[in-house]
Amino acid sequence: MRYLFIFIFTLSLFLKVNLVYSQNQSESLNFYYENAQKAMNSGDYEEANIQFRKILKLGVKLPSEMPYLFAKTLYEVGQYQNSQSFLEKYFEIMGKAGTYYENAEQLKELLKLQLNKSLSCQYCDLSGYRLEECSTCNGEKQLLKKCDYCAAKGKVGCTACSGDGVLIQLGAMGNRSYKTCYQCKGKGINICPVCEGEKELYTYCPNCLGSGHTSTSILCNHTEVN
Ligand SMILES: [Zn+2]
Ligand SMILES: [Zn+2]
Ligand SMILES: [Zn+2]
Ligand SMILES: [Zn+2]
Repeated sequence: MRYLFIFIFTLSLFLKVNLVYSQNQSESLNFYYENAQKAMNSGDYEEANIQFRKILKLGVKLPSEMPYLFAKTLYEVGQYQNSQSFLEKYFEIMGKAGTYYENAEQLKELLKLQLNKSLSCQYCDLSGYRLEECSTCNGEKQLLKKCDYCAAKGKVGCTACSGDGVLIQLGAMGNRSYKTCYQCKGKGINICPVCEGEKELYTYCPNCLGSGHTSTSILCNHTEVN
């Protein structure tokens, strides 16, 4: 009986703590959500972006209309791909029942336009961020590297004859016969198979993965001069 009492007491304490915790969570959720919408109404989308991200960090269930509002905000700050994924989430959750359904359809068209622009623009990446020349390869897409395989000598010891130039064959009577190595023609060395004797070779730039450019944090205006 005593144990049961302690158990119930502990349980109620636990529930209470949990309740206070989730109350705090939903209070901060409402607080940030209101702030975000206020910021949107005053056209301060950078601030709205900050507030929405705070909500995401809470790790709670999102208000059902929020995906649209966040998508709109992301669109306004130029983060088109992120915007699209939240817009898709909105359609998925709300279908046509969403308060902002009409707005969401409009946003979808606007996004399509922007994403197409980014696709056809050579100055920015898919998210609309301005590209710059890769500083590792200077835009060359590949790097000229000394060949490691042959230690930049262009030649390697023959693997078939271990560099001897001859192959030893044992006959049926235990007699040995010597044959000139078929691979190195008796020279004991071969041209390096990796660099083909060039001593150096081109490799993909690991910084830009062979594209020659990397993204900056500058939003692109899709013209030559940003
Ligand atoms: Zn590069
Ligand atoms: Zn050989
Ligand atoms: Zn080599
Ligand atoms: Zn662009």
